[in-house]
Amino acid sequence: MPKNILIIEDNEVNRKLVEVILTKSGYAVLSATDAEEGISLARREHPDLILMDIHLPGMDGLSATRILKGEPSTMDIPIIALTALAMKGDEERSLEAGCDDYIDKPIRHQSLVDAVVRLLKTGGKTHA
Ligand code: MN
Repeated sequence: MPKNILIIEDNEVNRKLVEVILTKSGYAVLSATDAEEGISLARREHPDLILMDIHLPGMDGLSATRILKGEPSTMDIPIIALTALAMKGDEERSLEAGCDDYIDKPIRHQSLVDAVVRLLKTGGKTHA
């Protein structure tokens, strides 16, 4: 069975890029375009890993992370924040909110795959 990865990202180009990279790497990919949809997919499907865009319309990725990390049914799912290199403090804020790791956008193929493999292996907290 392939590992399931949920991507929560409002930017279509980034979302499609992540879907293509992860599908080609042998993962099954679920996607959501906002926090609410992502949270309900996470509760229902319990993916092995979540990629969380920090900047989402409506509820942001930090609040969504706090919700998921606060619920017994989803708190064990590792979360990688997708942070914007230009936005100072995104990395620190995402770790404070409970994300296990982060990668900077623009997304690079190898950094994404490396972070996913690492976090699936350790189950979380590789950047703390
Ligand atoms: Mn965004």
